[in-house]
Amino acid sequence: MSYKWLETASFTYPDHIAVKYNGETLTYQKLYMHAHSLGTHLQSLKKKRVGLYIDNSLDSVKLIHGLMLLGVEMVMLNTRLTALEMKSQLDDVSVDTVIATRSLEIPNINVIPFNEIYALPSETFMVNQPNPDDVLSIMFTSGTTGRAKAVPQTYRNHEASHLNCQKHFMYDETSSWLMVNPVFHISGLSILFRTVLVGCTLIVENKFNPSRVWHILEQDKVTHTSMVPVMLKRLMNSNGIHYLKGLLLGGASTTPHLLEQSIEKNLPVYNSFGMTETCSQIVQISYQDPKILSGAVGNVAGYDIKIKEKTDELLIKGDSVVKDYLNADLKLEDGYFNTGDLATIDADGYLYILDRRSDLIISGGENIYPKEIEDAVYMMADVNRCVVIKKDDEEWGSVPVLLLEDTVDETALLDHLSQQLAKYKMPREIHYVDKILMTSTGKISRSKNQKMFLEQ
Ligand code: ATP
Ligand code: MG
Repeated sequence: MSYKWLETASFTYPDHIAVKYNGETLTYQKLYMHAHSLGTHLQSLKKKRVGLYIDNSLDSVKLIHGLMLLGVEMVMLNTRLTALEMKSQLDDVSVDTVIATRSLEIPNINVIPFNEIYALPSETFMVNQPNPDDVLSIMFTSGTTGRAKAVPQTYRNHEASHLNCQKHFMYDETSSWLMVNPVFHISGLSILFRTVLVGCTLIVENKFNPSRVWHILEQDKVTHTSMVPVMLKRLMNSNGIHYLKGLLLGGASTTPHLLEQSIEKNLPVYNSFGMTETCSQIVQISYQDPKILSGAVGNVAGYDIKIKEKTDELLIKGDSVVKDYLNADLKLEDGYFNTGDLATIDADGYLYILDRRSDLIISGGENIYPKEIEDAVYMMADVNRCVVIKKDDEEWGSVPVLLLEDTVDETALLDHLSQQLAKYKMPREIHYVDKILMTSTGKISRSKNQKMFLEQ
């Protein structure tokens, strides 16, 4: 099997539309030519690894393929980070050069604007023939639990992730994938790879504007896309989708309410579980499976997934799972990657994510999963955002505290919670905050909110 993905697609489907962005299109043949031409200039940098500060655009797609033709590893920077945060990540992976499609300054880093690549000297080069274990991309985890880890994702990892996705999503050379999640996240970048691996069309959109996204889904006959739950929520006001076969949700937990609403609207929504370390989702569950509404994220049949006895930690193994971090130690147990997530598997093999090990609250010897309390709060439709954190308690060790952004009828909320939760799981205090703090990837950060609560 050749890992020259773009070359293969441009031989097999030279005239297929490879990419569409803002009214512009490129066939696979043309995309190859652009990538190759960029490669001749990028070659003069003589770098093994560069940073990318890019948005979702045609230039970014050309650039990624150009670097792949050269065999240069790309470090995907989250454009929401500050220059100093980026510097620290670049230092972690020994990178001194960043290519940027938007303006950027980082102290002591050579930033090359995309348009200036063509001014670099041009040199001929041999198109790289990757080995499966060569690193393709380096991505940082969200940093939800602490310092973000640098994850080296190989060709084998990305290919395995694509094959798993294709088995469930049935996309082929006639499909169109919309990439509206940032390309610097695994949910975005994996779409770019899926499309070139089958020779279908990648539709690129930079901002999530609900009415525009609806328009694209229809006009460009989009068959597949990925979103984070907050995007899907914003799509709920629109109607009528005719071509979509799969809408993948991931990155964070989703409320049953949102899944129910989507299914009522005939959206072919799939819930999923995955990590940066698994190169996108590892399991998924279809809208046609009734268990989707019970919170299951997939069935483990056919996967090497198990739960560690006593601790309930989720252990996984497989070709899409990375082998190590570049700035930390990856925990392998018996050849399995310990995800740090707590989970259960029911008698029929369905997987449920309970919470992260580091978030567990042990109160009077009982385990309390903050996520379970949050899920119960979200069942009250008028709550937009909440987070449960822990507070030290002399009698119980620690107890759960609920932080809310929205003002609610507390009596009604407590009444509702007491029907959903055992007494020991009930939040001991409710506090209102101006803003629930998020990570740079848009997830609710329990650690930042915990810190804010302790400092106030
Ligand atoms: P860090 O590892 O730096 O603390 P992170 O784990 O949030 O950050 P990501 O790789 O972006 O970084 O996210 C993976 C995590 O997201 C999973 O380990 C899990 O905790 C959470 N997650 C993903 N999908 C789901 C889901 N469907 N339900 C619940 N949690 C999920
Ligand atoms: Mg993680």
